[in-house]
Amino acid sequence: MSDDGSDDGSGDGLVAGEELQLVRSAQLDWIHALAERLTEAGIPRQVNPLTERRATDSTWGLYVRPADLARAKEIDREVMLEVMPDIPEDFDPSTHDTGQCPACGEPTPEGASECASCGLALL
Ligand SMILES: [Zn+2]
Repeated sequence: MSDDGSDDGSGDGLVAGEELQLVRSAQLDWIHALAERLTEAGIPRQVNPLTERRATDSTWGLYVRPADLARAKEIDREVMLEVMPDIPEDFDPSTHDTGQCPACGEPTPEGASECASCGLALL
C-alpha cells in the first residue's frame, strides 16, 4: 500500500459511507485538540456528536479510517498526556465532571470560556 498520500492524503479525504473507527469520545475542546493533531499528521478524521441534545455540552466522537486507527491511537495518547499530564492510566474522560477543568481539576463556573486557574479553553 502506498503511503505517500498523493491521492487521498489532503484535506479531510474521507469518503461518504466509508466505515470509520472511533478513536476517542470526549468533550469538544479535547476532540478539537486531537483533530488538529491528526490533521497535522495527515490523517483524515471526522468529528460527530454522540448525543443529539445540547451539542455544546455533549460528548463528541472522533473517527478515522481503519487503516489510520493505530496511528490515530498513538497521537490520541500523546494528546491525552498533554491535556492531562497527571491523569491516572485508567482515566475515563466520559465520566469527567463538566463542572471541573479537565486539565487541572479546578471547579469552573457554568458557561466559563476558560479555566481561571490554568487558562484552558473550555468552550
Ligand atoms: Zn484548569
